Amino acid sequence: MPRASRNTKRTHATRSRPVKPARNANVNARKNPLKAKFDAGSPVDEYERCHNGHSSVITPGAFVLIQPAGLQVAPEGEPHPHHIMWKAVVQEIHVDEKDDVAILLIHWFYSRDDMIELAARENLQLRSGSWEESFSKMEIILTDDEEYIEADTVEDVVNIFHWNEDKIKDVEPDDIYYRYTYNVLTQRLNGFKSTCSQCRKIYIGKKEDEQRFCDQCDRWIHTKCLQNAKVRRGSAEHACKIFLKGKQDSGDYNMDGVDRDGLYATLMTPIVRPKTCRIQGNATSVLAVRRTVERRERMTKAMRTWVKDMAPKLERRRDETFYVCPIDGCRSPM
Ligand SMILES: [Zn+2]
Ligand SMILES: [Zn+2]
Repeated sequence: MPRASRNTKRTHATRSRPVKPARNANVNARKNPLKAKFDAGSPVDEYERCHNGHSSVITPGAFVLIQPAGLQVAPEGEPHPHHIMWKAVVQEIHVDEKDDVAILLIHWFYSRDDMIELAARENLQLRSGSWEESFSKMEIILTDDEEYIEADTVEDVVNIFHWNEDKIKDVEPDDIYYRYTYNVLTQRLNGFKSTCSQCRKIYIGKKEDEQRFCDQCDRWIHTKCLQNAKVRRGSAEHACKIFLKGKQDSGDYNMDGVDRDGLYATLMTPIVRPKTCRIQGNATSVLAVRRTVERRERMTKAMRTWVKDMAPKLERRRDETFYVCPIDGCRSPM
């Protein structure tokens, strides 16, 4: 695919021109005059957008921020926070050489509020239960609601990651992520992958749906679905020995600089997914320590410090209830 030729690149700062997002893409896309320009233009696989003194390269697949209609253009150097900007993923870029304009075909992301409003307006039963509770402010939903916009409407390129619910991933509290997709034609919310291995129910973040993570088979299982697999009281230490597989005393695991009490406390911390569907927290640290021990690798300094800080929690956790993963061939404490 050709690159945008030099004279089609905007090298001057351009003001954002707000566009109104279509919530009825297929109708709207046909009416959009930019579609004709898009169709007449030729595809490029890269477009450089200069704005507010810095340039960003837009490519198909790039996630972009778009100034919402009705929102004041942000003063230079003080961009609006990401969570209030509209977001989209670029599908294709066409450049109209004659008019020196680049048109993007995009798919919108919907925000949590967009979804709630849409569900109310269209009277949609997207999911049983209160699915809205499990969406955080930083979560968006990928849709196939398409639109043609001018490339100059893009404020910036942004990092958005796809969160696979069955994995634990280290994320910052202000990271923008998406888990689900919404199909505008079928009006279905898809991608609820995180089902309990026992009852097959989808995790929607309600209080009674507390789940535990098995770090051996990467599965979440409801605490209430594990009641038959309870390990006896005081068994946390037993669980801990299983994690260490009894090898720490034989010198197989390098304990240099590692606080023993803290390590035990860390290994005896079950990974629990509570009421709200937040993905930051201790789970990633606990998991990182366990995996390091399992691989017999030496802990980083940051990890050793974290483990040391965990030591005072040892006493409190002595009676922690553990369960045995009911998956055949796993049987790990969780
Ligand atoms: Zn369950
Ligand atoms: Zn397991």
